[in-house]
Amino acid sequence: MKEMNDSHHSMDSTDPELNYLRGISERNAAKILALDTQSIALRHELEHKRRGFALLAELSVSLRRRADYESVFVPVARRINAALNMQRTIVLTPDAEGRFKATVLQGYPKDKMELVASRSIEVDAELLDPEKPVLITGADPVGRLEKFREAIDIPYIVSSPAFLYDNTVAAILITGRMAEETPFLSRLGKSDVETVHAVSALLAAVIVEQRLEDDLRRARDQAEKNARVKGEFLANVSHELRTPMNAILGMARALSESDITDKQRQNLDYIMSSTRSLVRVFNDILDFSSLDSGRLTLQITEFSIREIADNIRRTVEEQAKSKSLSFGIVVEPAVPGVVLGDSARVEQVLRNLTDNALKFTNSGRVEVRITEHDPSPGKIQLLFEVEDTGIGISEEDISDIFLHFTQVDASHTRKYGGTGLGLAICRNLVNLMQGEIRCESRLGEGSKFSFTVPFDLPEERQRSDEALGSGSKIEYSAEATDYDLDALRGMRVLLAEDNEINQLVVVDILSGMGVDVTVAANGLEALEALESGAYDLVLMDIQMPEMDGLTATTRIRANPKYKDLPIVALTAHALPEDREASLKSGMNDHLTKPVEPDEIYAALRQWLRQPKRQQTKLP
Ligand code: ADP
Repeated sequence: MKEMNDSHHSMDSTDPELNYLRGISERNAAKILALDTQSIALRHELEHKRRGFALLAELSVSLRRRADYESVFVPVARRINAALNMQRTIVLTPDAEGRFKATVLQGYPKDKMELVASRSIEVDAELLDPEKPVLITGADPVGRLEKFREAIDIPYIVSSPAFLYDNTVAAILITGRMAEETPFLSRLGKSDVETVHAVSALLAAVIVEQRLEDDLRRARDQAEKNARVKGEFLANVSHELRTPMNAILGMARALSESDITDKQRQNLDYIMSSTRSLVRVFNDILDFSSLDSGRLTLQITEFSIREIADNIRRTVEEQAKSKSLSFGIVVEPAVPGVVLGDSARVEQVLRNLTDNALKFTNSGRVEVRITEHDPSPGKIQLLFEVEDTGIGISEEDISDIFLHFTQVDASHTRKYGGTGLGLAICRNLVNLMQGEIRCESRLGEGSKFSFTVPFDLPEERQRSDEALGSGSKIEYSAEATDYDLDALRGMRVLLAEDNEINQLVVVDILSGMGVDVTVAANGLEALEALESGAYDLVLMDIQMPEMDGLTATTRIRANPKYKDLPIVALTAHALPEDREASLKSGMNDHLTKPVEPDEIYAALRQWLRQPKRQQTKLP
């Protein structure tokens, strides 16, 4: 024991603890030193990793919206330079000849970079495999990129995942160091290399995504253009057809009112009913085209379901009688008087199903029922059913009948006419109104078509003429066929219409109602006529020489004097957007050619008894 103490003494210390520690440190000095070095290296590595992650996070946010290579690569190169503390970054971007433009960026102070060289180099075909439109990330990028290294005359290349898209080289990113720098691998850590790889992969993803987006956008633009061209073509054809048809119908009507033989009258009736069938066919085609391209929008107003039922009853009863079918249309008492929805479209679907039922039924009955379904506060669901005892549809055909252009019997010998568009339009319209349509049928026994549509209910207090005001579709009422001409007698209407035959047709209809008509041959003449005379209403064609109807209407509305003057479009432009354009220009309503006297009568009644225009809904 004593000996030991002595020996400690000889170490010139009186503190046993300190001496003990001294002993340890002497023994372990080498080991500790090694550990220290390791932890410094580790800390370096971690620091590099941290900077790498920060760089990636920053890039992934800022790269999202960049479009072209230059705008992506140069800033990225700068950031890599700053983050990894490098002096040089080389950016390769593909040129038009499939070669690369190498842009060498030299950094002096970390944040300031300067372009020191820019030239094109050959691409190594083996390196960029055109069969693989994917990222090429080599296990040994340094070795694989030797060619580039030589070509651009730098000693060290860190990374270069090149990538291909659509068989063209999209981009390459190379970072390197200057020759006089400390040898590359000893200065650049493993995580630096990883960072550069990760940045390259990120760039690849961003650019491929960008290219896909560009391709998608191009495809979409092209599709939109095609749809527009198709729509314009249809609108033109429709316009060009409607104008002469208006003339045919109008002239035939005028003739039938003159003194002619029964045989002649019969021939005229054929002309008129054939023309009406033609109009129905291309109304279907136009509707289908609008629905197909998503351009059809609903016009929501307050309307009465019973009025729709009356309209349909009036027009189909005759047909049912001529086929000796019993026909009934029932609106359940629980169905509310007024609902909010697109009355014209509801009527169109119900009428189509009813017409089909009558068309495909040769004996027995056709029954239409409208019942309440699923009421909840402020809302209602109505169920419309059309049942017939007609030819029926086989089970295998039922699944196809709602497809466009489909007819169960498409043969040359088929007995029933039609375009096969009706039910496709019905289904699309019902879907547009958030409802469902279905069909149950048995071949030889009959069919039942039904659809549901949810409607909002109007707040009782708000029920007034306001809801039927400008911007809303007018529901022509049952009175239309029994004209009350006293109400119209002496009214002054200005007709702006350039086509002479159509002028005659409309003047004929209006004079027949006792209305006083003045004709203006274009928008300019209409403006002049308004200045020199007083009118109760303007019927305005849209397409006219000198000044079109929309411009004329805008001009008229610009004058406060004519704020309340009813202006009704009377035009061969029959698309939903045409109607919208009319209302937007300041018109109260939109009638399409060929026009029936009923429609003109109803519009005159509607707007002449509503002198105060509701301007508020229009911009
Ligand atoms: P179309 O204009 O040819 O009548 P639709 O789309 O309205 O076109 O109808 C498609 C087909 O469905 C018709 O051609 C007919 O074969 C069948 N169909 C429609 N309604 C009925 C019905 N009530 N009874 C029997 N078959 C019907």
